[in-house]
Amino acid sequence: MSDCIFCKIASGEIPTDFVYSDDNIVAFRDLNPQAPVHVLIIPRKHYASAAVVDDEKVFSDLMSGAVKVARALGLEDKGYRMVINTGEEGGQTVLHLHLHLLAGRNLGWPPG
Ligand code: 5GP
Ligand code: ZN
Repeated sequence: MSDCIFCKIASGEIPTDFVYSDDNIVAFRDLNPQAPVHVLIIPRKHYASAAVVDDEKVFSDLMSGAVKVARALGLEDKGYRMVINTGEEGGQTVLHLHLHLLAGRNLGWPPG
């Protein structure tokens, strides 16, 4: 998707420091962090949201990638949260599937 900001980040067109990357996913810090640790994990392939994913491996890649990042950042002891906002009422603002990894403070429940 030529006009998708996360495709541009994944391809390197927008230079970005990756916290983690492999053949299928990249992880990078959120521009507007909502917690002391706020990393986005995205598939390199463009999906507008979780709702249109047709390959379940995409979800396992995202979640296992997030767990790897959490381990690398030493988050296991205190804990963390993984979130995928989906669609308008789900609070999704960027239309390229992404998983939020949030940590470093007490995260309220239920979310807003
Ligand atoms: P959503 O609201 O779609 O679940 O999350 C989109 C996230 O992407 C937001 O937390 C927002 O701060 C982040 N974001 C939007 N544009 C950029 C960008 O260009 N770079 C980075 N690193 N994060 C972005
Ligand atoms: Zn995209």
